[in-house]
Amino acid sequence: MIESALRMAGMALRAGRLEVGDEAAGDACRYKRCRLLLVTADAGEGPRRRAAHAAEEGQCLLAELPCSKEELGAALRDFDAVVVRSATKVRASHIDAAKGGRLKLVIRGGVGVDNIDVKYAEDNGITVKNTPRASSNSVAELAMGHMFSCARFLSVAGHTMREGKWEKKAYGKGFELGGKTLGIIGFGRIGQALGRMAKGIGMEVIAQDIFHVPGIEEQIGMKYVELDELLERADFISLHTPSLNGVKLICKENIEKMKDGVVFINTSRGDNVNEADLLEALNSGKVRAAGLDVYADEPATNTALYSHPNVSCTPHIGAATKEAQQRIGMEIVDIIEGFGK
Ligand code: NAD
Repeated sequence: MIESALRMAGMALRAGRLEVGDEAAGDACRYKRCRLLLVTADAGEGPRRRAAHAAEEGQCLLAELPCSKEELGAALRDFDAVVVRSATKVRASHIDAAKGGRLKLVIRGGVGVDNIDVKYAEDNGITVKNTPRASSNSVAELAMGHMFSCARFLSVAGHTMREGKWEKKAYGKGFELGGKTLGIIGFGRIGQALGRMAKGIGMEVIAQDIFHVPGIEEQIGMKYVELDELLERADFISLHTPSLNGVKLICKENIEKMKDGVVFINTSRGDNVNEADLLEALNSGKVRAAGLDVYADEPATNTALYSHPNVSCTPHIGAATKEAQQRIGMEIVDIIEGFGK
C-alpha cells in the first residue's frame, strides 16, 4: 500500500509536477522520514536511479524537476534534502527563500562545492555534504588521457583527418610519457590517483600540496617538493587543487618558472588559471600543449583558447563516467540514510 502510493507519487513528481499535495504524494509523505528534491537540470543517470530506489525503499520522497533559478528557492521550502550537481547554484538568496521551511540538507553530487554558499547554509542550520571519493579515479583517468593526447596530438590529428588531411609529418613529433617528470599541484584524492597511474607507466612523480600525507611518499614512490621546484622540474604539470577563490595559480609569473615546452593539464577548476596568460604561453610555445576539462566560464566562451591547435579539450566531463555516477548515487543514498542518525 505504502509502496504503491510511493511509486505513484514518484511517477507524478518525476513527470515534472512540483505539487506534493496530491493524494498519492500526501499519503506517501505521511510515512516518510524525508522528502528529497533531486534537481535534474544536471543530474546524472546514477543518482537519479539510486534516489528513485531510495524513494521506493521508503527512505525519501523523490521529486525530480528541471528547476529554474527563480523556482529553486521557493521549492526548497518543501523538501528536507536537495541534491544538486555542479550546474545548479544554491546561493544565499535561495537559502533565504527556503527559511522557515523543511530544508535541512544540501547534497552536492560530486566534489567541488563552489556552487553552494556553504557557510551561509551552515550558519542557517543547513548541513552541506558532497560525494568526494566517488569520481577521483575517473578524473585522474581523464587527466591521463589529456596527457597522452597532448604528447601525441590525438585531438588535433583526429580533426585534420576528418578534413581529409594526412599530416603524418606534422604529428610525427610526439614523445613518450615514460621517463618524464609529472608535477602534481594539489595531491589530494584525484592527485594521488593520478600519481599512482603515472608511476605505472614509468613517470617520475613530484607533488606540491599545503598538506603532506604521512607515509604516502613511500607508498606511491613520489616526492613532495615546493611549488617553485615543481614548476622548474616538471615536463607535465597537472592541477588538482580545489577552487582557490580567485587566486590564479597558473599565471604569467608561474608560467615563466616552468620548463620551456611544458605540458599543462587542468581538470580542477577553471578559475585557478589565468586563461589569457595560458593562451599567450601556448602561442609563444612556452607551454607546448594544454589539456583542459574546466574553464573560467562554463559553457566555455574563450574560443581562442579551446580551439587552439595545441589544446586538447573536453567540456567538464571529468566525473562523467558510468562508474563514477554509480558511486556518486550510492554515496548520496548513504548520506540520506545516515543523516540525523
Ligand atoms: P581533495 O580535497 O581530495 O584534494 C585537493 C588537494 O589540494 C588537497 O590535498 C589540498 O590540501 C590541496 N590544496 C588546497 N589548496 C592548495 C594550494 N593552494 N596549493 C596546493 N595544494 C592545495 O580534492 P579532489 O577530490 O582531489 O579534487 C580536486 C579538484 O578536482 C577540485 O577542484 C574539484 O573541484 C575538481 N574536480 C573536477 C572534476 C571534473 O569533472 N573535472 C570532478 C571532480 C573534482
